[in-house]
Amino acid sequence: MKIIDVKASIVFGRSVFVQVFTDEGLTGLGECSPMHAPVLAHFVNTVLRPLCIGQNPLEIDKLWTTMFYRPYKLGVMGAHLEAIAGIDIALWDILGKATGLPICILLGGCYRQRVRMYASLGGGAGRTPAQQAAIVEQHLEQGYTAIKIRMDWGYRVDVDPEKDWAMFQECKKLTGDRVPLSFDANNGYSPATAIQQGRRFESLGIYHFEEPVMVDDYAGYAQVAHALDVPISAGEHEYTRWQFRDLIERAQVDIIQPDIVKCGGFSEIRKIAALGEAHHKHIVPHQTQPTIGTAANLHFIASLRDANRPQEFTGVNERLSSLFKEPWEFKDGYFTIPLDRPGLGLELDEAAFRRAIE
Ligand code: CA
Repeated sequence: MKIIDVKASIVFGRSVFVQVFTDEGLTGLGECSPMHAPVLAHFVNTVLRPLCIGQNPLEIDKLWTTMFYRPYKLGVMGAHLEAIAGIDIALWDILGKATGLPICILLGGCYRQRVRMYASLGGGAGRTPAQQAAIVEQHLEQGYTAIKIRMDWGYRVDVDPEKDWAMFQECKKLTGDRVPLSFDANNGYSPATAIQQGRRFESLGIYHFEEPVMVDDYAGYAQVAHALDVPISAGEHEYTRWQFRDLIERAQVDIIQPDIVKCGGFSEIRKIAALGEAHHKHIVPHQTQPTIGTAANLHFIASLRDANRPQEFTGVNERLSSLFKEPWEFKDGYFTIPLDRPGLGLELDEAAFRRAIE
């Protein structure tokens, strides 16, 4: 089998879907992180596409190495790895279709077909505590059994910790002891403030404390992780096994959070997971893309023995779901992986897709 074309398309002006076409009629589907869609689509279509055409799509790791090292000087984090992710996910989809097997089985087996999701609720910085609590309440009514509230101070630290604390208290009144509540500072605290905040959150009960300090402040992460009992998480800004090695060794976080549409797809995230397992770290991936990204993430999660914590979900996006013949069912806060479908288990509705990329 040979790859005859690779195409990244911008969907609804924001998402980046990747298709890999083969001479045997099998087509693979993948997704890149949408951080800046035109750059990502251009990277796939002009830098990576020529490296893939004519190659065997089933030699995935070999192709990954080519896609990583040939354009190495264009940058090893951010766009480069996000572009590789879209193609890598599509290659695994092709492998699934060629063998008639779902990806989680190809990864070694399905430890859990039903996956509990947590509602990942952003926008905290721009809302009052009461406004954020109202959103939490809506999601509890939808059936979610775990919640995370996210701040977004735009990479400024210690803007208004008192408001964050008030917001956590308001939300905790609703989640109580029954529903785990996590807090994502989105890199918004200095280490000392993060420790003070963390102690207050711990006094009420917090499930995990995400990105308490600035990106790359590995010493600050280690300081916070040592001072607090709550699991500290990070990793959405790391892209390769080597960056995760440093995050684990130097930042000493408890939970690592690679993102399959950012860190180079299945091929890299499984290596990161093995690294995490060797250091006895939990893995709870970052994931904000509701269709292909989530399907890829859940195949990966299903294949991990100990990935028992709830997984990130930003909610069903009806417009994106409408691009697929049979979108995955999300019910009562859980996804069920369709093990009767090969590959990713998602097929585009071609007519709807064409309209979405015009
Ligand atoms: Ca986050």
